[in-house]
Amino acid sequence: MQLAQPPLSPEDFRKDVVPVLLDRWLAKCFCKNPGFLKLLAFDFADYKRADRMIAPVELIDSEMLWSTIVAAKFEPQGDWLRDGGGSRRIYRCPQCGLTLATRSEQYSINMWPTTTRPKDDRALAAIGLYLVGYHGFGGKFDPAWILDFRPALSIDQFVDSVTSAI
Ligand SMILES: [Zn+2]
Repeated sequence: MQLAQPPLSPEDFRKDVVPVLLDRWLAKCFCKNPGFLKLLAFDFADYKRADRMIAPVELIDSEMLWSTIVAAKFEPQGDWLRDGGGSRRIYRCPQCGLTLATRSEQYSINMWPTTTRPKDDRALAAIGLYLVGYHGFGGKFDPAWILDFRPALSIDQFVDSVTSAI
């Protein structure tokens, strides 16, 4: 099978990357991997500054990683709770017991980005790698504003950054 090359479409990510992530996760969870945690923690609000407006943006890789691993494999601890304009929920890793806090806010019918952080504040990677990239919704956004996420050079590099426990 010929693998797609970065940047990937969401469809290629689903076809070529998600099955690899699931296989690796079943062998060992990614909770000790700072690259996994970094990707889950993407939040466009981190890039707001007084001198510029930033439109709501999601990192598609983060959303697909969240839905593939956290939403599908982690154990929800209670229901979604309202939190300001959004909602939040706690998830627990069934392998190692790490708890993650997910916050989500809806900006349109097809854009409901999540930001997920470990409850124990363990370290995230300095740089997050992605294969697909950003999806914006109206307003202004420039990927150059985001310095702590960058495209992976290959699918292998991305998978290693998410799954290779240190
Ligand atoms: Zn775990």
